[in-house]
Amino acid sequence: MIDINEARAHVLQQCPPATPVAVACRDSTGLVLAAAVVAAEDVPPFANSAVDGYAVVAESVAAATADAPVQLPVVGEVAAGAYTDRVLRTGEAIRIMTGAPVPAGADAIVMVEDTERVDDDRVAIRRSIAVGAAVRPRGDDVCAGTTLYAAGTVVSPTVAGVLASVNAATVQVVPRVRVAVLSTGDELVEDGSALQPGQIRESNRTMLLGLVRAAGCDAVDFGIVRDDEAELERVLHKAATECDAIVTSGGVSMGDYDVVKAVLSRIADMRWMQIAIRPAKPFAFGLLASGGRTVPVFGLPGNPVSSIVSFELLARPALLQMMGHTAIDRPLVQAIADGGLPRRQDGKTHYVRVFAKFGDDGRVHVESVGLQGSHQLAATSLANAIAVVTDGDGVEPGAPVTTMLMSLG
Ligand code: AMP
Ligand code: MG
Repeated sequence: MIDINEARAHVLQQCPPATPVAVACRDSTGLVLAAAVVAAEDVPPFANSAVDGYAVVAESVAAATADAPVQLPVVGEVAAGAYTDRVLRTGEAIRIMTGAPVPAGADAIVMVEDTERVDDDRVAIRRSIAVGAAVRPRGDDVCAGTTLYAAGTVVSPTVAGVLASVNAATVQVVPRVRVAVLSTGDELVEDGSALQPGQIRESNRTMLLGLVRAAGCDAVDFGIVRDDEAELERVLHKAATECDAIVTSGGVSMGDYDVVKAVLSRIADMRWMQIAIRPAKPFAFGLLASGGRTVPVFGLPGNPVSSIVSFELLARPALLQMMGHTAIDRPLVQAIADGGLPRRQDGKTHYVRVFAKFGDDGRVHVESVGLQGSHQLAATSLANAIAVVTDGDGVEPGAPVTTMLMSLG
């Protein structure tokens, strides 16, 4: 058996980031920037009003109070998207809407709530204001020439919005990885028909397609492949030709019908691992060349819980790395194991599925989700975290345990 860290290093070393491409900024959310982005434009592009009100020269309303308002002639109006070339002089007001360009000559905006329209031509101002009040200067958000984002930045929806605001029509990103997902096994059915003796419903592929998508990849469903070497070989070659990575489930252990092992051993450069973890001891990783491409293959074990743990520990970080991410791991916290997490010594690190939540003490507390068998996916489906219980007698009630957070809150 090898250490999980050795397995992980082996996998990560062979999954470098993909070659950058240019994409439209609206398609860049979730991707990683491959080059720094320098703002080409000022935002806002012109001084504009932060409020609906009246543009004035601040000096002309210096004496204004609620009891003694100052009346000014209204010499124009400007809405968002419009423009006035009327130059405002001291002692005048121009009606202005939020986002409209501040007229030349004006140096402040009085908000409409501090005014009263006397008639069509005049407004009473009830407050004095400072120079610059409610004026958003040009470049107040972003100045042209500023480096907004370094290479390696993950494009959040907000970052994508900023890219749009500076007219970055396309950006260089590390592309999304296309991942082929397939499951193997003669016992698997998915058509809803009555189960024949020995058959079970397929579940891993549905789960893995979702996990692959949740990691930000494009998932491509390659279906259930029978335990048939010729068929599996054909599907694997097709997957390698059409996708950037392959995730298989099942057939990587020591059984006589573990055809994934038989086929991949022959057609790919594989390493078959027994990792000192529970669940998910068997795991295979290698490179498959087909159609002039070489793609990584993640051979996950068939037991559903093993398959998700294996994906979390080994496939997900590698896929994230291929997409240029540097934060490839789930956050780790020292959580309190309220009920304890007992175990026996067996030379393996146990990945115990737990439910994590914040306690009144502000710390993260975890409880086992219950059934921990590698076939018991229903209990695992309630977990939002995995406690890493090192070899030994387990964690005492109330003691800390290193925990990978999948989601919290
Ligand atoms: P294997 O790794 O192929 O030996 O499978 C180990 C266990 O996982 C067996 O009990 C299989 O029936 C089960 N299994 C394998 N693939 C799947 C799948 N896609 N969905 C549900 N169970 C599976
Ligand atoms: Mg099988």
